[in-house]
Amino acid sequence: MIQKTRQRWRGWLEIGAMVALCGILGALQYRWIGEVSVAERERLQASLQSGLTRLSQDFNEEISLLCRAIMRGDDSAYLVRLKNWQESGRHIGMLRGAFVARPVNGDMQLLRLQTDTESEDQIAWPPEWDGMRRQMLARVSGERTRGGVGARGDLTLIDLPRFGRGPGPGPRELEWVLLDMDAQYLSTVLVPELLARHLGEPAAAEYLYGVYARNDVARLIAGESVGAPDAEVALFQPQFDTIFRRGGGPPGRRGPPPNTTEGRWTLAVRNQAGSLEGVVARTRWRNLAVTGGILGLLLAAVGIVLRTTRESQRLAEMQIDFVAGVSHELRTPLTVIRTAAYNLRGKIAANPAQVERYGGLIQQESEKLTALVEQVMQYASARAGKTIQATKEPVDMQSLVEACAASHEGILRESGCEFEVRIASGLPLVLGDALALERAVNNLLANAAKYGAAGKWVGLFATKADGGGVEIRVADRGAGIPAAEQAQVFDAFFRGRRAVEDQVHGTGLGLNLVKGIVEAHGGTVTVKSAPGKGSEFQILLPPAPDGYQDEFTDSTS
Ligand code: ADP
Repeated sequence: MIQKTRQRWRGWLEIGAMVALCGILGALQYRWIGEVSVAERERLQASLQSGLTRLSQDFNEEISLLCRAIMRGDDSAYLVRLKNWQESGRHIGMLRGAFVARPVNGDMQLLRLQTDTESEDQIAWPPEWDGMRRQMLARVSGERTRGGVGARGDLTLIDLPRFGRGPGPGPRELEWVLLDMDAQYLSTVLVPELLARHLGEPAAAEYLYGVYARNDVARLIAGESVGAPDAEVALFQPQFDTIFRRGGGPPGRRGPPPNTTEGRWTLAVRNQAGSLEGVVARTRWRNLAVTGGILGLLLAAVGIVLRTTRESQRLAEMQIDFVAGVSHELRTPLTVIRTAAYNLRGKIAANPAQVERYGGLIQQESEKLTALVEQVMQYASARAGKTIQATKEPVDMQSLVEACAASHEGILRESGCEFEVRIASGLPLVLGDALALERAVNNLLANAAKYGAAGKWVGLFATKADGGGVEIRVADRGAGIPAAEQAQVFDAFFRGRRAVEDQVHGTGLGLNLVKGIVEAHGGTVTVKSAPGKGSEFQILLPPAPDGYQDEFTDSTS
């Protein structure tokens, strides 16, 4: 008993330890996944930012290339150079118009460069460029002002002065080339192309982008309003240092690093599936769910292992009880037989009445032994997979139940029990093994005699069942079966606590065999019991097919 309690405690401790271990693992995993998620977010952020920086460099370089192409050389042959640039075929759509502003007779002339007609046509100054024109005039007349002459707020006009020797010291602006860039083309063709190049085709598709005016973040030039961006970069900053460098070689390595913090535009991007933070958080939850699932699976596996271990432990205990029980069962009849044999060899041999009595005892006890051995052998053969139902023949259930009643009547009456038998006539035939079925009913009657005789009443009822088969009930008014044991009584080797305590002889195999036999006949066996009031076992057997029934009815009528 103490050992069993100790074992149970150990079992619970093991379960507790496993659950605690899983809990610790879960907590650690939660923390690690959190750390990994933060690192992942930082990595994504950094790679996104560096992609945008490269994009900005390429964007600016694309514009600078155009500027360099036109401003190359000291002369005013802009038209030829513009044509050459157009023929190079690089994003020619980004230039909406090219103009030259040239001082003539104290005024500023505005010429449109027309590559299709190869002409420079004088046009009127658009009113919005008026401020720029006045600035240019001031510069030409020697006034020194800082910065370009371009109109403030005009985000697409690039003014490129051509320098030369003036009357004063140092170089002076002689004339200007004005490039009117196409915002639509730049933001909807060039930007997406560069996004795909620097973020990778599939990743670029995951991002929403918006191009805003740098000095006015509310002014969306193209794309979509991205709200809180994951990353942003400045765009549209022609690299004047490389444009006006003599020799016109490619920029980059020789000059200072391109500036990506200044520009007329801001490019902002955000992950379509929400912010980058949200995407990482979702991945984190997915990882956590998978980890949780695995830990759950682990716990379930531990549970199953523990359950099966318990089950086999219980089975082992039952088998030990069974061996002890069988030994006990063998010992009693053997003692009776040995004593009877000893007596028969003595003086009693001369007394026929005593010989008769001892002979009867030996017969009775050896029958008990035979029944015991029979039961064990049947269980063994059922376990070995041999069929319980040896033959399959139509069984007359009425005669079978009557025979069972007759064989138990004597024992029950001897133990002072009223034996109520009610067998309906015309019970349907059952297809099966008559001997096995008889054994099943007898087993229930023997149990009623063993455990229910104290109630002084045992009933045996056989009727036609609702479904057309046969219903056999064996009832008693004995001590009944405790609710906790009712589910187990049909298990092999199971013996009730009271049966063990009261040392009622038995092996714990009887009801298991009954169940095996009934189920082999396609039937069911159930128990209803109220502790202190008695028990009732019910066997339901299906009828034999109609052909058999008809034959049987004909032969009995
Ligand atoms: P055994 O009788 O050899 O113990 P069984 O398989 O026939 O084995 O029965 C299993 C247990 O079911 C018994 O030990 C007993 O506790 C309980 N039992 C069976 N029949 C009855 C009954 N009619 N009344 C009370 N308990 C019963």
